[in-house]
Amino acid sequence: MPASSEQGRVFVAGHRGMVGSAIVRRLRERGQPEVITRSRQELDLTRQADVEAFFAGQSINTVYLAAARVGGIKANNEFPADFITENLQIQTNVIESAHRAGVQRLLFLGSSCIYPRVAEQPMSEDALMTGPLEETNEAYAVAKIAGIKMCEAYRRQFGSDFRSAMPTNLYGPNDNFDLETSHVLPALLRKFHQAVKSGAHSVAVWGSGRPRREFLHVDDMAAASCHLIALSEERYWSAVDDHCSHINVGCGSDVSIAELAEMIASVTGFEGQIEYDPSMPDGTPRKLLDISRLEALGWAPEIPLQRGISETYRWMSDHWNDG
Ligand code: GDP
Repeated sequence: MPASSEQGRVFVAGHRGMVGSAIVRRLRERGQPEVITRSRQELDLTRQADVEAFFAGQSINTVYLAAARVGGIKANNEFPADFITENLQIQTNVIESAHRAGVQRLLFLGSSCIYPRVAEQPMSEDALMTGPLEETNEAYAVAKIAGIKMCEAYRRQFGSDFRSAMPTNLYGPNDNFDLETSHVLPALLRKFHQAVKSGAHSVAVWGSGRPRREFLHVDDMAAASCHLIALSEERYWSAVDDHCSHINVGCGSDVSIAELAEMIASVTGFEGQIEYDPSMPDGTPRKLLDISRLEALGWAPEIPLQRGISETYRWMSDHWNDG
């Protein structure tokens, strides 16, 4: 592996997505000389032979595996087959091909939905596989758990330096603001903004408003990913073990969906009624990550929620037609 500050030839899988694009921005800002990306048209990561041929021809040293099919509670609930199949294909192809091509270091990005639906809060890494998953995103979660376990299996069998980071709910530039498929934070920014523009008196918020979520700005996630990958092999693997090798990435505090809705109403200037729609699912009651492992490895988030929401609102206004 090149020196820890230098990652050699880096491949960011999923660079058009919210997380992948934030990682690319960060690497470029930090002067990383060789960042390789491929659009879906150039390389379809669900196609094994294509992925293998790509890796065989590229002499890649480091991989950020941020490519995934992602979505909010409604999309996950309605398209479980797509979520499990595409994610298993993408991650299996990339991890196996990276191994075959001799990639020295890889960071697999997962999600906090890997943890049991009802877990002690905040959730530490070893809560993994201690109970049943939340049904609305079980298919996606099973794929992500398989990704972590694959990295661990390659570590045990081949000594691979394949690491995993599990972010909490992320938001920021390049998020998906489509109301059918998005997560809650971008959905509410768009709904409240549309209501202000159209003069609507009420906005519908799904579920009871009682679930609690932790939100992290994607630039903080990119910073954490770069931090984790830059740690020496000895430092990373002395903080974890090869049967529980993933690291949570969060901000350490959560808000209820009702509190989030109030914050977004205030940022967008909406003064009407917030109406809860109990016909839509609440999902997991609470998802707050224990980030002590990450903190012990020397990283802390920098972007407070209020500021992050305001900046994301500005980004949405510049990039979405009705925004
Ligand atoms: P989750 O963290 O996997 O449950 O995914 P989401 O971000 O999609 O949803 C988080 C919570 O926000 C759930 O309790 C949703 O019911 C609630 N929520 C409220 N309004 C909305 C909305 O307009 N869109 C989405 N995606 N979730 C919403």
